[in-house]
Amino acid sequence: MEQKYKLTFTENNIQDSVAYVLVSKFNIEPSILKAEIEDDGGMLILKLKGDENKIKAGIKYLADSGIGVSALDKHITRNPEKCIDCGSCVSICPTKSFTFDPKTWEVHLNYESCIACGSCLSSCPTHAVTLTL
Ligand code: SF4
Ligand code: SF4
Repeated sequence: MEQKYKLTFTENNIQDSVAYVLVSKFNIEPSILKAEIEDDGGMLILKLKGDENKIKAGIKYLADSGIGVSALDKHITRNPEKCIDCGSCVSICPTKSFTFDPKTWEVHLNYESCIACGSCLSSCPTHAVTLTL
């Protein structure tokens, strides 16, 4: 399975080698989608790939270590009432999570491929996109 998580660090655990622990202890394949790291804390968005039970065990291990953990599920939304199908998000999205329907030219959003980079938020003229992390 694959699942995206947001990890939040404090100054006490910002140096923890999370990726190493997930690989070596739990045989999970982590991909870093986004990182905001400062000396006194930060956050990572990770995509974890592996056995479901091992991912659960790895996430519990991180949480027990004092790292904030939350699963990202439908973390990005497009408000169809506000969207004017201008396509600005389609051209800026690095993961092609926004696409045009070739028949209707309406914009669609695939939240599963979104890496929470935030680029579409600033590009949207009607503030139709919301990112909740
Ligand atoms: S947050 Fe980034 S990856 Fe996600 S839909 Fe917007 S531009 Fe694409
Ligand atoms: S940038 Fe905003 S208004 Fe334009 S297509 Fe994307 S979500 Fe809709």
